[in-house]
Amino acid sequence: MPKALIIGGGVAGPATALFLHRAGWQVEIFEARSAPAPYGGLFLNVATNGLAVLDELGLRDRLVSDGHLSPHMVMLSGRGARLGVVPNGPAGDPARGSVVVRRAWLHEVLREAITDAGIPLAFDARLDRVEETPDAVVAHFADGRSVRGDVLIGADGVGSIVRTAIDPKAPAPAPSGLISVGGFSRVPGLAPTPGEQYMVFGAKSFFGYLVRDDGTAYWFANVTAPALGRAETRAMTDEDWLTRLRDLHAYDPYPVPQILEHVEGEIGAYPLSDLTHVPHWHRGRLVLVGDAVHATSPSAGQGASLALEDAIVLARHLRDAADHEQAFAAYEHDRRPRAEEVVKYARAVNRNKRVTKSRLGIALRDAMLPRFLRSASSDTRNDHLYNHVVRW
Ligand SMILES: Cc1cc2nc3c(=O)[nH]c(=O)nc-3n(C[C@H](O)[C@H](O)[C@H](O)COP(=O)(O)OP(=O)(O)OC[C@H]3O[C@@H](n4cnc5c(N)ncnc54)[C@H](O)[C@@H]3O)c2cc1C
Repeated sequence: MPKALIIGGGVAGPATALFLHRAGWQVEIFEARSAPAPYGGLFLNVATNGLAVLDELGLRDRLVSDGHLSPHMVMLSGRGARLGVVPNGPAGDPARGSVVVRRAWLHEVLREAITDAGIPLAFDARLDRVEETPDAVVAHFADGRSVRGDVLIGADGVGSIVRTAIDPKAPAPAPSGLISVGGFSRVPGLAPTPGEQYMVFGAKSFFGYLVRDDGTAYWFANVTAPALGRAETRAMTDEDWLTRLRDLHAYDPYPVPQILEHVEGEIGAYPLSDLTHVPHWHRGRLVLVGDAVHATSPSAGQGASLALEDAIVLARHLRDAADHEQAFAAYEHDRRPRAEEVVKYARAVNRNKRVTKSRLGIALRDAMLPRFLRSASSDTRNDHLYNHVVRW
């Protein structure tokens, strides 16, 4: 039985493991973190195409059971004017809209399935380097242990070291100039927003929120901060962020300032970056999936869904191809155009989120957006992203 070593226990890693296990492979997952965190990584949108992959795994309903169905995104100006409604799924088919879930819940649903399948997942297992021999690949971990396999799958996220093991000259992620800061709040009396997320083009920063039936608000702000890198972002405390956010959103419409006054638990802050084109997706016995090879900014709400699609496509080719090299080539052929399209699309959305300080710029944007959004509500040009279904 061939053996795959999977580096990364985020989204792409466990999903790839489940499909490969189904194809008869022996699989092991290695995750650098010490343990799962119930609120770590905040929340994310799983789009209809990602849900279709979870459906193939029999996990769709389990995920949705603790999700906020969100087929519509209501766009508001910084003064609270309703600019328009954008479908978060195929236009004209709202019932099939996407779902927002805590990231940790998505991880938990995948992890439960992994446990049920008997697939080993090791925490505290940080890949340090990779060694290739003619008939195997050996993963060396930071704690000194080494594990041998037939292939190694880099599902190790945007900062992937498998990417540089494949190609030392692989591009580094490009910063977007935006930092996503988010968390959870409970505002007394704030009504739930069933079926909807709200996006506010605030005067000084972009803000998104939804309110679950139990009154918990999931919120994020995209702060324009080109000079802040990963280290500086990490150095800022939750109080630093809250002070900054309360200032940036002080004059935004209800309930934005109120959400920022009633934050519960920790705040997460992530500098957003992306990878538009990674020249080498695989080499020898090594291959990349998910953010490691096509990190996309969250503005398209597609990163996790693309990671899930990679998982099924790669595993299917490993199931069917004569050898791993043919499988990797077929996988790249299938996946590269779609992944690069989404990354570019998300990058284009970011342009509207970056905040210009000029009053004229804001006035022009608020005047143009309703026209653009009116056509977006019936625009079917993105339907192929949402309607994409990969069958096992
Ligand atoms: C703020 C923010 C909001 C987002 N919102 C959305 C959204 O709404 N919708 C959406 O679809 N996507 C969203 N994304 C993107 C989404 O999170 C990613 O696209 C998705 O998680 C990719 O899954 P992955 O498994 O490829 O990578 P990850 O989920 O990043 O998992 C990689 C894993 O590898 C582990 N790892 C890293 N290095 C090593 C190593 N050396 N050894 C072992 N393990 C290692 C990491 O600890 C991590 O657990 C968002 C991203 C951010 C930053």
